[in-house]
Amino acid sequence: RLVRLRQRLAGSNALGRGLLNLLSTDKLDEDTWESIEDLLLTADIGVAPTQELVDGLRTRLRVEGGKVDPKAALREELIKLVDPDMDRRLQVSGADDGAPGVVLMVGVNGTGKTTTTGKLARILVSEDRKVVLGAADTFRAAAAEQLTTWGERVGVEVIRGPEGTDPASVAFDSVKEGLDTGVDTVIVDTAGRLQNKAGLMDELGKVKRVIEKQTPVTEVLLVLDATTGQNGLIQARVFSEAVAVSGIVLTKLDGSAKGGIVVAVQRELGVPVKLVGLGEGPDDLAPFTPEAFVDALLG
Ligand code: GDP
Repeated sequence: RLVRLRQRLAGSNALGRGLLNLLSTDKLDEDTWESIEDLLLTADIGVAPTQELVDGLRTRLRVEGGKVDPKAALREELIKLVDPDMDRRLQVSGADDGAPGVVLMVGVNGTGKTTTTGKLARILVSEDRKVVLGAADTFRAAAAEQLTTWGERVGVEVIRGPEGTDPASVAFDSVKEGLDTGVDTVIVDTAGRLQNKAGLMDELGKVKRVIEKQTPVTEVLLVLDATTGQNGLIQARVFSEAVAVSGIVLTKLDGSAKGGIVVAVQRELGVPVKLVGLGEGPDDLAPFTPEAFVDALLG
């Protein structure tokens, strides 16, 4: 998995290579530290975390002097920044009474929500879980079609309604089907229109309420496109106001030079990145682990 992550991050590990090069210079002077800061900022790590990393690293190199390898110290400081203590387990199981876990997928259209729903279903099925998908993105005409194709590919049932149906009613039906057929997990794909914040809040709130008339939502995954940088942070804020997000999926990390957004968005929401999207294929979704991520970044 690490090898794959490494290959897929080939675009983004320019950051790692750049940092390692700078740290290899004989004399770490002000100019070099400034270049290190610039690199971190370009990768969207954010101002405060960049400062923390650079200060931490400078202090360590000064205090520990020749006893510490700058590259090893950089690795450790980066891992610290990505917060290795956060609980990144996906809550895909329901309560003990046999009810399914319910995963709500939220995020702006185009971020990779439907694709991630399909890939996640595939992972769960490969772990011998029974899954139902709900196509509650009834706004985008092709979304239900796209999810149905994923359902066929992965071999799981997809619940959908006629175009323009109330998303909450599709969500309700999906969870009902999950309860009736005794599946382990229901994943509900939702629409992500950002034009109207009040509308989004109403819609997501209603979807969640209607599901919870039957059984609790166990995980709300916010899907963010890593290539959108700071814009992704604004989206994250809006969505977390609309619904309590419990985990982040960062998609399109393949080929993105913005890997630092992992740090920024976790800080912003106080919620862990749980999964990363590394391509368009069915196997291109991986659990996020800080150590593997930093190692991939540093190549
Ligand atoms: P939705 O509107 O949020 O449901 O987005 P889609 O699932 O339709 O995805 C939008 C586009 O992004 C599609 O072309 C996907 O194949 C692509 N996509 C999704 N996830 C990834 C990823 O991790 N990497 C890359 N390179 N493309 C992705």
